[in-house]
Amino acid sequence: MSLLVGAIADDFTGATDLANTLVRSGMRTTQLIGVPDADTPLVDPASRDGSAPDAIVVALKIRTVPAYMAVAEAREALSWLTRHAARQIIWKYCSTFDSTDAGNIGPVADALRSDLGADVVVACPAFPATGRTIYRGHLFVGDRLLSESGMRNHPLTPMRDADLMRVLSRQVAGEVGRIDFSSVNSGAAAIRDALTELSRAGIAYAIPDVLEDTHLMHLGRALAGARLITGGSGIALGLAENFRAAGELGAPVPPALPDVDGGAAVIAGSCSEATREQVAVFAREHAAHQVEPTSDATASSLAEAALSFTRDVPSDAPLLIYSSAAPAAVAAVQSARGRDDAGALVEAALAKVAQGLVGQGRRRLVVAGGETSGAVTTALGIERLTIGPEIDPGVPWTLAEGRARNGDAGHTRIALALKSGNFGAPDFFSKALAMLP
Ligand code: ADP
Repeated sequence: MSLLVGAIADDFTGATDLANTLVRSGMRTTQLIGVPDADTPLVDPASRDGSAPDAIVVALKIRTVPAYMAVAEAREALSWLTRHAARQIIWKYCSTFDSTDAGNIGPVADALRSDLGADVVVACPAFPATGRTIYRGHLFVGDRLLSESGMRNHPLTPMRDADLMRVLSRQVAGEVGRIDFSSVNSGAAAIRDALTELSRAGIAYAIPDVLEDTHLMHLGRALAGARLITGGSGIALGLAENFRAAGELGAPVPPALPDVDGGAAVIAGSCSEATREQVAVFAREHAAHQVEPTSDATASSLAEAALSFTRDVPSDAPLLIYSSAAPAAVAAVQSARGRDDAGALVEAALAKVAQGLVGQGRRRLVVAGGETSGAVTTALGIERLTIGPEIDPGVPWTLAEGRARNGDAGHTRIALALKSGNFGAPDFFSKALAMLP
């Protein structure tokens, strides 16, 4: 049996978001962490029924690495997916198009497009359920243009231009065009016509206008058979229907909650407005410790301070460790240590904190921040995520499993929710923890 969808995600929360969309559309989906080894089997040896999934999402951490490294990893993931005969490939990036002029959305898209010999490729970060819409090629976050949203202050990928044609053009070799609102709104046939025209004109990428989920469903139908699709998780919304219509996909199975005992903790490394509010709300009623990357701090010193705090919190009381800080504080740290160094320091500290928390018996973790989630998941040796029910749009609970690190014997098995910084309601952390039995 071949894989219906193979996806490559540029960060871990994005991967989970996409896997969540695929699961809700009825595809049995496995999320793998990192480029699978050549001998990684398609079927999880621990899976109950031994059948292959309909979709695999390979979670990479390549959003902010140098473009050549992102391209190399994405290509490796692609070759594993094509070896398993994946019918459609999705290149998944953030719904706020997180990137810089150097990449990595464009360079990876160019490489995958060339490897797959794809024609005009759709580039669609829209995710209406979380307020990301596209009109006349401009990306909105809620009521504001991307460039006027909190994303203008992102520590690693500040987004200061909302014109996606302009942003993507700076990152790719080919020309970028649009599929306008009237075509998208008219349905799949009009979208296919628009794509044919763009292809004739030699355009490499097409940015569709998308205001609501119906538009994503139209796009999904129009993209039946497309070898490469790029975008946010919303782009996958309509794909399952094509396979179902062709009799290749069964009825959806509702995802189950991970059944894991142990204490709970929240780790927040995102500095987005949404996460900072979630931190403030949760800290009002729970034990909370701030990780402050001062100029002389090391990852070990920051983690040790955090873990000596957590040791004193009763094991059945949920707690919060956060580095989330306002733009002025982040700018001060970055000017002292450099942007990448400051980010890497905080990520390394929070990764050690996560290891320590699991060592202290906390097995229900909520992590806020894409890069942060990548660092934590890697440090915990997680290899596969099984998607559970959704907490807020784009964020499911997962059962995370993998080999244990740090000399521990055995197998890591934790309940893990990976939240993109921007996602979730103000009470997200409590809501997430309250869902677990
Ligand atoms: P998001 O999902 O909001 O993009 P990420 O975790 O992907 O969140 O990115 C946030 C980045 O900011 C990480 O590299 C993180 O280490 C860094 N960071 C977090 N807190 C601070 C801080 N107080 N000062 C400087 N950088 C920070």
